[in-house]
Amino acid sequence: MVLDNPFLILYAGCMIKQFKSIADFLAYFKDEETCREYFEQIRFQDGEYCPHCGNMLVYRFKGGKRFRCASCKQDFTIKTGTVFGESKVSMQKWFIAIYLLTTAKKGISSIQLAKQVGVTQKTAWFMDHRIRKALKQNQLKLFGEVEMDETYVGGKEKNKHRAKRTKGTQGRNTKTKSVVFGMIERKGKMKASVVPDVKMKTLEKEIVEHIKIGTQLYTDELLSYSKIGTLYPHETVKHGQGEYVRENVHSNSIESFWALFKRGYYGTYHTMSKKHLQRYVDEFVYRFNSREADLHDVFADIVGRVTTTGKLPYKKLKTA
Ligand SMILES: [Zn+2]
Repeated sequence: MVLDNPFLILYAGCMIKQFKSIADFLAYFKDEETCREYFEQIRFQDGEYCPHCGNMLVYRFKGGKRFRCASCKQDFTIKTGTVFGESKVSMQKWFIAIYLLTTAKKGISSIQLAKQVGVTQKTAWFMDHRIRKALKQNQLKLFGEVEMDETYVGGKEKNKHRAKRTKGTQGRNTKTKSVVFGMIERKGKMKASVVPDVKMKTLEKEIVEHIKIGTQLYTDELLSYSKIGTLYPHETVKHGQGEYVRENVHSNSIESFWALFKRGYYGTYHTMSKKHLQRYVDEFVYRFNSREADLHDVFADIVGRVTTTGKLPYKKLKTA
């Protein structure tokens, strides 16, 4: 189990049958009421509470959908103070969007999402980003055997008009491309961050923040890694000498993640703005880290996350 809140998962996961396809999923979440009941189990897993003041003594109105706080006397529903309350989109549509984003290995564009969920593209774009924002994980530091590598995405200069090309930007260059730094436990979890450059100082900061001291590291021969051996046992794959695997020394795990991420980048999204790149990275990392968990557990985890993440209004998202 690699999700952040196993308790929530156990609780919500036991409520629903295993769903193996979108048909199973839609048969279960057949109407708004089922979605509401399901969400109530997740939101009030530690007991009912008032979203206005946090008081735990609340009364439920007849019919079961409205509550009144015994302290501040304000009314609320299960949706108050969550993304479901802020948006006019039905919970069922949110659930479908979450399901699609969870199961799409290469991601799903807002155009595809709009078509499949039945909302405008503008709404789909907002939903997409809101879900993605919730996927940032704050797990413990990595340990064991960790492969690290950096990759460059975006800004294919050869596709631009000559006048718009930036000189000296072929291959690895941060003028037009963004750098993503990935760290992956063999057969375990991973983390990845958008970084401004691949200088030694920048990468070391990431490594120390995300990896336990004493972990066995594997990297390529990039100079920025040359001093990391003073803090961690470190082995290098010498790509420059045509070497890719030397017994246990390789970077196959991180390479396969990059391959998937790039298929999503170029195949599904076509581009990811620098501004939102970390969120796209978080989306792919989340899917990777939950790859062996049951789908209904993953779904419950994301529903919980989406609704507890801070507000992200459309306007702010557009200009942030
Ligand atoms: Zn209250």
